[in-house]
Amino acid sequence: TLKNIRKTYHMGKIDVHALKDISFEVEKGDFTIIIGPSGSGKSTLLQILGGLDRPTSGDVIIERENISNMKDQELAIVRNKKIGFVFQKFNLLSNMTALENVALPMVYAGVGLSERKEKAKELLDLVGLGNRVTHKPNELSGGQQQRVAIARALANDPTFLLADEPTGNLDTKSGIDILKVFHKLHSMGKTLVIVTHDPEMVDEGNKVVKIRDGLIEEVN
Ligand code: ATP
Ligand code: MG
Repeated sequence: TLKNIRKTYHMGKIDVHALKDISFEVEKGDFTIIIGPSGSGKSTLLQILGGLDRPTSGDVIIERENISNMKDQELAIVRNKKIGFVFQKFNLLSNMTALENVALPMVYAGVGLSERKEKAKELLDLVGLGNRVTHKPNELSGGQQQRVAIARALANDPTFLLADEPTGNLDTKSGIDILKVFHKLHSMGKTLVIVTHDPEMVDEGNKVVKIRDGLIEEVN
């Protein structure tokens, strides 16, 4: 739940009001699309929703826990347990294999080696990359790299999967494959929030939040 979220960046003498007064709810099991033009505040909003950034004012409540006033350490724990994040530029570690990239969040969560490997393999199977486990990122296509990034985001079995323009760097076919993965995850009960500026994607979700100039224009 986001309540009256404002985010202002202070840039010397200029204040940038990236989010002006945003309130909405993501329900468990929702597939939410956040759409709006470049600079409207989508990434800022998603980062705040996922606890990667803090609002200037307002409350972010995740499963009855208000994360807005949490200390950094506490917030990191909630984030690691409950949120998976997918970025437009994949952000994989180039010197690690697909399997190692997917297993990495489990290292931080204290999961043992054999269990990590097993779970990482299962997740790569889930995104259709069971035959690419030893490939490094530069040996994978863009769409495949994004699927590794999705598998990695799922490593600690988060309740919420958040993705910022996940198909923005991909060709149409690869983008469609990623959407198929999202639909599969949704049917498995994951709660998804996807940011896009592509109007063709609005039909993919069951809820659409349109934002413009840091304000919600419409929720459908
Ligand atoms: P795009 O579709 O291009 O990714 P967006 O909707 O994700 O755009 P944001 O990145 O959230 O937009 O930016 C919203 C506004 O906040 C923009 O005007 C941007 O210039 C400003 N902004 C974003 N991040 C910062 C920052 N770290 N410091 C200062 N201003 C910022
Ligand atoms: Mg953005």
